[in-house]
Amino acid sequence: MTAYSGPVFDMAVKQFDVIADYLSIPDDARARLLMPKRAVAVSCPIHRDDGTTAVFQGYRVQHHLTLGPTKGGTRFATSVDLGEIAALAIWMSWKCALVGLPYGGAKGGINVEPLSLSRRELEALSRRYMQEMIPFVGPHTDVMAPDMGTNEQIMAWFMDTYSMYQGQTVTEIVTGKPVSAGGTLGRREATGRGVAHLVRRAADELNIRLSGTTAVVQGFGNVGSIAALELHNNGVKVIAVSDHTGALYRPGGLNIPKLIEHVAVRGSLEGYSNEVDLDPAGILSLPCDVLVPAAVERVIDAKLASTLRCRILAEGANGPTTPEADQILEKRRDEIFLIPDILCNSGGVVVSYFEWVQDLQRFFWEEEEVMRREYQVLDRAFEQVQARSRKDNVFNRTAAMAIGVERVRGAKETRGLFP
Ligand code: NAD
Repeated sequence: MTAYSGPVFDMAVKQFDVIADYLSIPDDARARLLMPKRAVAVSCPIHRDDGTTAVFQGYRVQHHLTLGPTKGGTRFATSVDLGEIAALAIWMSWKCALVGLPYGGAKGGINVEPLSLSRRELEALSRRYMQEMIPFVGPHTDVMAPDMGTNEQIMAWFMDTYSMYQGQTVTEIVTGKPVSAGGTLGRREATGRGVAHLVRRAADELNIRLSGTTAVVQGFGNVGSIAALELHNNGVKVIAVSDHTGALYRPGGLNIPKLIEHVAVRGSLEGYSNEVDLDPAGILSLPCDVLVPAAVERVIDAKLASTLRCRILAEGANGPTTPEADQILEKRRDEIFLIPDILCNSGGVVVSYFEWVQDLQRFFWEEEEVMRREYQVLDRAFEQVQARSRKDNVFNRTAAMAIGVERVRGAKETRGLFP
């Protein structure tokens, strides 16, 4: 039992144990790799529009600082607690190491339903959260980014708040900012584009021609909508999508650009009712070539894993598959090609790294340059995962996590234990 214990943290521990066994990591080296270096919990009071005061709980967890500053998103959701944030910070560490970034993992968040706040309240909460975090973060200590429930505007408020306290503009304190406030071209699309790029690589690996295949996408926010659009632009028929309000299903393929326009105006899929409505959870078991969970954790459990009818499972979300489901998917790995989350959605942090580098250098790149470099990093990681999976005859998740864990472990051993 630790301060982090809970279903999502326990899942991160179970996943790590599988890898630590596979890598024969001695027991006494495991806690040093797994347990977060630091965590902070804050109370964020704001004035509500009705004159009352409300207090929201916020967190930030920094997993390890061995390779450089920590890096990770900020989640505004009612699921947020210390354990969920710690698990997400740990996954960020394996992800950054897998794709070769000079970062440890971090994550933060506030337990709040952001849609229940007015814009003024959301700004007040975002600014108060960042103000509470100032002693804990910094461009060379811990760099924030968006995640579920946060967006470019919130990153701009974070950056502005931090900068006001420093007496100078410090764009490099957060990534995922608007381009007008020091962001990089291609960051908003980076995660979804990366998901679609890796789907193309997986299809090549399986000798599948992507054009004319079918896809199902759960979650239609930043990651899901862009992944769906990129797949649609590659000739894939996106037959079903869902969000927290419902699901849409059209066997002939949905009009993804129109759906994106609808969500930009309405904020969700609700009201776009020309197609058949479905239960949001139901779409994951639809037969399709490409399945992209791009919403929340633990949506694919053991029962669902045995009934999945996809050829490629591209994990856009963090932690969508439980360790029990993994055991089944591992057995089904000739039928279902898994692109594990720490690889599949890593385009986001890769381009966040590019944004940080550009901010530090005050030198900005063209979008083509950002995309070229993103795909180059993803291709290298994809090939390393495939090589490892073939060499050791292991599941893609095992291969990806093993590479990440080994790199963090190697860096810790080389640096030694202080004092
Ligand atoms: P977002 O807030 O932009 O969108 C989340 C989407 O999921 C929304 O459409 C929401 O309605 C939907 N959703 C929520 N609960 C759902 C449910 N139970 N069933 C179906 N849909 C549901 O968030 P995002 O940035 O797109 O993040 C999605 C996932 O991708 C998260 O797991 C996040 O950690 C991960 N991720 C995001 C980034 C990034 O750059 N934004 C990078 C890496 C990983």
